[in-house]
Amino acid sequence: MRHRIAVIGGGPAGLTFARVLHRHDHPVTILERDPAPDARPPGGTLDLHENLGQLALGKAGLLAEFQALSRPEGQAMRILDVDGTVLRDWQPRPDDRANPEIDRGQLRDLLLGPLDVRWGSGVTEVVPGTRDGVLVRFADGRQETFDLVVGADGAWSRVRPAVSSATPHYTGVTLVETSLDDVDTRHPDLARLIGDGSVAVYGVNRGLVAQRNSGGHVKVYAQFRAPLDWHTDLDRHMGLRRRAGLDAGLDLADAEAEAMRSSLLALFDGWAAPVLDLLRHGTAFVHRPLYVLPVSHTWAHVPGVTLLGDAAHLMPPLGVGANLAMLEGAELAESVAAAPGPGDRDEAVRAFEEQMWARAGRLAKITAAGLERLVSPDPTEALALFDEVQPS
Ligand SMILES: Cc1cc2nc3c(=O)[nH]c(=O)nc-3n(C[C@H](O)[C@H](O)[C@H](O)COP(=O)(O)OP(=O)(O)OC[C@H]3O[C@@H](n4cnc5c(N)ncnc54)[C@H](O)[C@@H]3O)c2cc1C
Repeated sequence: MRHRIAVIGGGPAGLTFARVLHRHDHPVTILERDPAPDARPPGGTLDLHENLGQLALGKAGLLAEFQALSRPEGQAMRILDVDGTVLRDWQPRPDDRANPEIDRGQLRDLLLGPLDVRWGSGVTEVVPGTRDGVLVRFADGRQETFDLVVGADGAWSRVRPAVSSATPHYTGVTLVETSLDDVDTRHPDLARLIGDGSVAVYGVNRGLVAQRNSGGHVKVYAQFRAPLDWHTDLDRHMGLRRRAGLDAGLDLADAEAEAMRSSLLALFDGWAAPVLDLLRHGTAFVHRPLYVLPVSHTWAHVPGVTLLGDAAHLMPPLGVGANLAMLEGAELAESVAAAPGPGDRDEAVRAFEEQMWARAGRLAKITAAGLERLVSPDPTEALALFDEVQPS
């Protein structure tokens, strides 16, 4: 018996879910708000762990293709003091395949493969329990019903309200992302500083991380503790105006804004010049305040609707969110594909939710504690965390 299944969202969770169902010859409708795969920049690099993201790719039959695309050398990690002194310089062994990196765009294309996505299908609401199943309403006024609706629509999920009243809250930490292109030819000193993988510098309540993507592209993340509205009054919230000679507020909509670069340079004032060059040469700035769902977010099971990935358990970006999202997508797909009737399907979803909540709850606690230590009043905490998690 074929269940009418829809997955809302074509991110790592939704695409892995759909790809594994496809492998099991089960039809699935993929509803994605973006009008096209390349409608917006895909974001930075992801490290896929052997026991999470790679396990999911194995279930999708895509592990060999992943290994051909991924960058094991990208696992390299260097940590500097704010004065530029190298504190740690960790290099993976040549055969280390524990957490290789892959560009998000490459991962998306790998997962997409033969899948047929309904691009430009923004979902506004999901109503469980109607006579014909679960009703999905779209932004353009259309509606459609399914037997199972899987919410894989990320942090600001429109499916979540059908099962839970939880909403994300601000962690107190903001990221501002910028990029460097053609780093090896245009900024060879920075290319050496970053190496094959990442470089991170931690100071008091702030840090700078630069990560190499493929093709000489680098993503730089400035991270700092600040009130959510820090950019509206730099003088009052950040004590910056006097030092940087900045206007009171920043226009976040203007990605090229030199004012953002100046504010960040003032915020990281006194750090080593080569480290600050990561900001000086950054091309555009994207403001990303970090939100999370409550740790151990669960809900009373609702027949016909469930959540995956960030929609279910948004946590700080400490290298597990996409991994977990993919493994959940693969596991749910396998369970649903193996369920013969509607009752079995509902039991399969219920069992999946229990397993997801337990594992995601553990990781949400670990990543919340990790964020406290990475962006901390005591920068030695970040180094200690690195030493705890990195194999020697
Ligand atoms: C700076 C940063 C770095 C990170 N680094 C890592 C890392 O190294 N490793 C790691 O594992 N994780 C990392 N993460 C976390 C990771 O990005 C997320 O956990 C992961 O993307 C979650 O996948 P998802 O599919 O659940 O949601 P998303 O990736 O958010 O995908 C949701 C999809 O749903 C679509 N959508 C949204 N609303 C609707 C709607 N109403 N209707 C239809 N479609 C909709 C969106 O367009 C999107 O395509 C990082 C996060 C950040 C911010």
